[in-house]
Formats: sequence, structure tokens, C-alpha cells
Amino acid sequence: MIQIKEKSNMKWTTDKVATRQCTRCNKIKPLSSFDSDETKRSGFVGRCRKCDHEQREYTEKRNTHRQSDCLKKKGYHTREEAVTVAAKAITRSNSTLLRVYHCPHCGSWHLTKQQMIGHR
Ligand SMILES: [Zn+2]
Ligand SMILES: [Zn+2]
Repeated sequence: MIQIKEKSNMKWTTDKVATRQCTRCNKIKPLSSFDSDETKRSGFVGRCRKCDHEQREYTEKRNTHRQSDCLKKKGYHTREEAVTVAAKAITRSNSTLLRVYHCPHCGSWHLTKQQMIGHR
């Protein structure tokens, strides 16, 4: 089924336009709207350029969001530094356990609160 609005009153006999259905927006678009991908059997990526762009922006936004989340937390350069701060914080309040973890997003060490369960 090939239907493109602006070409609906044209005959399809002469100019055959190779089309493809986008896996994301499900619109049928000419192959020029798709990036080629040699690893795919069809030779083209499943998403049209527009969707690919939107998807990329979405992922970038999510990454930026994660990073800003990192900025809110204090990052320590070394594990020792983070552990020292965590140890001090733990002695101040014995209801909270601080866990030290290495952040893959900003490459520094963060502290995360871990509420002790069933310990009163
Ligand atoms: Zn699309
Ligand atoms: Zn981080």
C-alpha cells in the first residue's frame, strides 16, 4: 500500500519511489528519509531521519537530566574522600546509612542515603 497525499493525483507508472515504513511513527516515507545501515538486512535503519533525530534529542535530554542530578549531589574525586565524609555523617545520625558508589555519569564518587529497615 503506497499512498502519498501530494502525489495522489499522479500516475504511479513512471516514477516508482522506493518507500519504507518507519518503525517509530509508522509513516511511509521515501528511502531518502532513512539513513542507510549496512548491518541491517534491508540496508536502512528502521526509523526515519525525523524520528531518529527526535529519539536522539530525547536520549540527550535524559542524559543531561541525569548529569544535572549528579550536580545536585556532591561528587568526590576518590573513594577515600567519599568514605571519610560518609563516616562522619553516619556518626552524626545513626538512623541513616550512607553508601558510597562510583558514578558512571560524571566519573566521581557520590554518597547515597540508605534508610535502615527494621532497625530501631
Ligand atoms: Zn518516523
Ligand atoms: Zn555522578
